[in-house]
Amino acid sequence: MSIFKDLWWFFKLERKSYILGILTLLGIALLHLFTPVAVRVIVDKMVADTLTLNDLIFWSSLSLLVGVMAYGCGFLWRIMLFGASNRLGRLLRNRLYNHFTKMSPQFFHKRRTGDLMAHATNDIQAIVMTAGDGVLTLADSIITGGIVVFTMAFFIDWKLTIIALIPMPFMAWATSKYGNMLHKRFHKAQEAFSITNDKVQENISGVRVIKAFGQEEHEKKEFKELLDDVVDKNIAVARVDALFDPTIILVVGISFFLTVAYGSVGVVEGTLSIGELTQFTIYLGHLIWPMLAFGWLFNIVERGRASYDRVDKLLNIQPDIEDQPDAIDRVPSGDIKYQLKSFIYPESRTPALQDISVHVRRGETLGVVGKTGSGKTTFLRLLLREFDAAPSAISIGGVPVTNMKLLKLREAIGYVPQDHVLFSATVAENIAFGKPDATRDEIEEVARLACIHEDILHFDQGYETVVGERGVTLSGGQKQRISIARALLLNPEILILDDSLSAVDAKTEHAILEALRKNRTNKTTLISAHRLSAVEKADHIIVLEEGRIAERGTHEELMKQNGWYKEMYEQQQLESLVMEGGGTFGHQTASPLS
Ligand code: ADP
Repeated sequence: MSIFKDLWWFFKLERKSYILGILTLLGIALLHLFTPVAVRVIVDKMVADTLTLNDLIFWSSLSLLVGVMAYGCGFLWRIMLFGASNRLGRLLRNRLYNHFTKMSPQFFHKRRTGDLMAHATNDIQAIVMTAGDGVLTLADSIITGGIVVFTMAFFIDWKLTIIALIPMPFMAWATSKYGNMLHKRFHKAQEAFSITNDKVQENISGVRVIKAFGQEEHEKKEFKELLDDVVDKNIAVARVDALFDPTIILVVGISFFLTVAYGSVGVVEGTLSIGELTQFTIYLGHLIWPMLAFGWLFNIVERGRASYDRVDKLLNIQPDIEDQPDAIDRVPSGDIKYQLKSFIYPESRTPALQDISVHVRRGETLGVVGKTGSGKTTFLRLLLREFDAAPSAISIGGVPVTNMKLLKLREAIGYVPQDHVLFSATVAENIAFGKPDATRDEIEEVARLACIHEDILHFDQGYETVVGERGVTLSGGQKQRISIARALLLNPEILILDDSLSAVDAKTEHAILEALRKNRTNKTTLISAHRLSAVEKADHIIVLEEGRIAERGTHEELMKQNGWYKEMYEQQQLESLVMEGGGTFGHQTASPLS
């Protein structure tokens, strides 16, 4: 029951709804006491042969009135309790979603999407149930159960009440035992569901690869096995669940038997009227629901407890990257400087970057090249503070990025990642993602800069064409250019293109870079690329090799050094000549050596 203690903050927040809801339940419990009284009076008058038509009309009308009042109360408590519990669902989901938005990519990297989704759906649903059905069953078993037992004992016959209640401790024992079993089995079922969720998510997003590798049958088989496991584990839950009701029915049956057996003796001996015995058995009937509620309560509370702990654990994970208390609220414009001795990823032993010393003047373009895994993305991510390097290792305008407010830093930087994401929205909305109030003219202007305007005009509904998961299929190059337009719309002080031109052809790449040069005077641009032509015109180029700067200089200077850059540049030039000459290489973006 400790879950109710943990949810106390919410009960306080919604105290009006809960107080009113519980008072209404109390009202219904009192109203329900009345009908058996009416039955007793009528039965006793019938036995004594004194029942008149007026009596019958009077007591029946009162019973009807009680029914109507109970109907109104029944409506009210549902609105109060379930309304409040649904608001808890909204509150927790919002909290969880906000929490997710604060988490670093590392957090999502470590956790499976299906798991996170299961927390936001199943777990929160179980907590909502505790705050709604849980409170209902607790209140009903205590209030209704208590009032009925009190009435039976004090107004009818306390001895008969004790006898009728003899089987009850067995019920308490059984329900707590079942509750325990249920908890363990439910946990396993939740886990299995979470794994299946994850599989669905992975398979849907990776459906192209599955088909390309002809793995449909294998995946189907694997999915079936997972589903079988979920079903088996849920059946195990259902088996225990199924024990609850029959146990209660058995216990209630024994109670009825004892009542009728002992009560009849009382009637024969004259200590109890037939009307009173009838009234008593009706009350015993009224006890079935509180008893069921009591058993059900364990079930709900067990589920709620496990789910609450899981959600709480997730909410207590601190974001990897946080604002320092004295973080400044703006990003000064100025030079970008890296003075980095070493950077090691949190879960790695070897440094991803070492001895990086770079100075990019404001308005310059820096090219970052190197083989796959040489540290290009890491170099750019550190500027964005997706991970934190040593304090003061990286600064903008003389201020370490670790001293800036994260939101402000990210607002100042336009980032086009390798894995561009388009949302299920129109092209215009996708471009205006970072600036939803952008005008159509502004959107078209950046689309022109990113050389995607003409393509968009050819789409069925132009800028209103829906793209993303539920929209038209775009080529990799089109997606890249829309992502570039999205970043350009913010007209950021610093623009990062992380291998963002890999899927566009050389001519388009040239046109985009030219447009950037013209439009981004006095603004800094960092470009990482596999194809060296993308950085050819950069003011400064660094070549990374196993996390260290192996070569540096302008294109001309690097071509004079007989290093990796020169070799790769010549090789790529040769490849593009072969392709232009109608070679069969296809569109090659990365050299086999890289
Ligand atoms: P590039 O962009 O040049 O391909 P990366 O910067 O992505 O290279 O990777 C540099 C090195 O850091 C690689 O050895 C890679 O395995 C490692 N690395 C990248 N991301 C992580 C991470 N999140 N955790 C641990 N190691 C990582």
